[in-house]
Amino acid sequence: MQIAIDFAKKIYDLIAYIIAPPLCYACRLYMQQRAVLCFKCDQAIEIIAPKMFKINEKYILTVYTVSRYTEPLRPMLFAKYRSDEIVLEKLADIIWQKSVLSLVQFDYLIPIPLHWSRVVKRGFNQAELLANRFAKHSKIPVLRCLKRERKTEYQVRVVHGDRTTNIKRSMIANLEAKQITGKHIMLVDDSCTTGATALEAARALVPFKPASINMIVACRAL
Ligand SMILES: [Zn+2]
Repeated sequence: MQIAIDFAKKIYDLIAYIIAPPLCYACRLYMQQRAVLCFKCDQAIEIIAPKMFKINEKYILTVYTVSRYTEPLRPMLFAKYRSDEIVLEKLADIIWQKSVLSLVQFDYLIPIPLHWSRVVKRGFNQAELLANRFAKHSKIPVLRCLKRERKTEYQVRVVHGDRTTNIKRSMIANLEAKQITGKHIMLVDDSCTTGATALEAARALVPFKPASINMIVACRAL
């Protein structure tokens, strides 16, 4: 019986190697063990310090991040355009391991919303997927209390100077936001380019008087 089980396992491994070989997501190196990144790429992640943005006189938003918008995390962020949920889950695990998220106090994870038409196109909101994964690690709930009021142009398509106006007044909070009063909030997104989206989300939540508003992303541009 054991021989049959061993044989079946070998066949299974062989099929898995053919269908989805264990290649490093960044450099395509073949790995002995299944992992997202090879040792070299994992070590190449350059951790950067958080950045602070002033929301108003009372609130400062700290954006916690893993690295700049560079290799090896950058190609993983592009997985959202291919609706590749597995890679985004792996990215969430990397953020959890490499950032300070597991050490920071927060009561709710709030994903930055996508306009519904983009959710339909992609099949999911990448920020929500990351938030759900963090919730699994931290046992802290996800609160979907932000909504996109209108569709904004993709940030990458908009010239730098127009980014702030493009995002302005695009987000509103729903009634679920009542729960955040006196609570520590962690906004979640995959990346942060200018901080405009982060500030827009934070400003929509300020009227509900949370104790603090911070954010976690994989990569930060500035
Ligand atoms: Zn690699």
